[in-house]
Amino acid sequence: MSFAESSNYFFKQAAKLLELSEDTITLLSQPYRELHVQVPIKMQNNKTKVFQGYRVQHSGARGPYKGGIRFHPEVDLDEVRALAQLMTWKTALVNVPFGGAKGGVSIDPSTLSESELEDIARTYFQNISHILGVKRDVPAPDMGTNEQTMAWMMDSYGAKFGHSPGIVTGKPIALGGSEGRTAATGYGVVIVLKHYFQHMAQDLTKQSVAIQGFGNVGMYAAKYLSELGCKVVAVSDVSATVYNENGLDIKSLENHIADGSLLKDCSEKNILDRDAVLSLNCDILIPAAIGGVINSSNWENIQASLIVEAANAPITPFADYHLQNRGTVILPDILANAGGVIVSYFEWTQNIQQHWWSLERVNQELEKMLNDAANDCFVIQKDKNVSLREAAYFIGVQRVIEALELRGFI
Ligand code: NAD
Repeated sequence: MSFAESSNYFFKQAAKLLELSEDTITLLSQPYRELHVQVPIKMQNNKTKVFQGYRVQHSGARGPYKGGIRFHPEVDLDEVRALAQLMTWKTALVNVPFGGAKGGVSIDPSTLSESELEDIARTYFQNISHILGVKRDVPAPDMGTNEQTMAWMMDSYGAKFGHSPGIVTGKPIALGGSEGRTAATGYGVVIVLKHYFQHMAQDLTKQSVAIQGFGNVGMYAAKYLSELGCKVVAVSDVSATVYNENGLDIKSLENHIADGSLLKDCSEKNILDRDAVLSLNCDILIPAAIGGVINSSNWENIQASLIVEAANAPITPFADYHLQNRGTVILPDILANAGGVIVSYFEWTQNIQQHWWSLERVNQELEKMLNDAANDCFVIQKDKNVSLREAAYFIGVQRVIEALELRGFI
């Protein structure tokens, strides 16, 4: 099953519950628009190299398209298509007035110099700029991109269309970024976990946690969980898993990776294989790296009783089906990692109003919106006797359908 077919699988489960017509299913199982562009760059050796870039707009029923831009070697149209659809359900579930989109360039950023990366960011953005706009499509960072990438992209758009800070979110604060945006996705993962444990009347601080991916999302999730008192027993990156059954010193690992070093070179004693993180003995597993990592080949090895999808689509439909049948609880991506898009929404509104919020206000409103979305999921889960993923999709798809009906599309 391709990545896009996987995201359609979960959408079609919701479509069945909502008794959608075949035409409506066709409308929403395909993106509204797909753009594939060349990104030709003069490399440092003075030779031209051509990279492939994509922007897919899935649905704009509820507002401007919204979704991150990924720089990663595995980016292709199928992946971007799947991630764009996920964004539509995510923005609807957390009730921010956006549609869903995603973009990416197929590159390995670790092999490129800073100036080559800047050229790629600027050229890619120029080449997709005719379908973007502050009220049309607003990108953000994702894997392999960060606030510096957003600054280059904003600048390249401004050169053509005039200064437009609201064209991207996830910018540096000095350029109109929001307080709290960088940490928002990882922090949001922890808000959702805390709320789930409250709902279940259980104690989160007694849990042991393993986290796959120690980048923007995984690192902040590890930091806030360890601050809460949880035992973070393992974290991993592209190079290795670092394990300590008594709990890792997250601050020192954060310092270790700050200059770009890999976890395999850190001073912890227990360095395991990259994928070992998935099957370690722990209460909570948080995949926070790439998609499809929990699949038919390894779902049976997972020991955690709760999986929190900080990454987008880390569990394939096959593994999801078997894990849910086995009783493993899954907090789905469109809820668990929605903190980033919620604070992106705050950033966008601040840019439009030319008004700035304090970190305290950002985090208070973030917590309220995530808790409301989680509560909505708990209600549907109980009423319809479905999984939390099915409940989350049900709510997201229902809100998009309502907007499509009101606008006269269906
Ligand atoms: P990042 O580039 O900052 O970090 C990615 C991390 O994953 C790095 O530690 C990298 O070494 C590791 N990694 C890469 N390939 C791996 C592999 N095969 N095995 C183990 N580790 C691997 O990216 P990020 O922004 O933290 O995004 C991580 C995930 O969260 C992605 O799925 C992304 O779509 C999702 N997400 C990000 C945001 C956001 O605001 N950044 C928002 C929502 C969802």
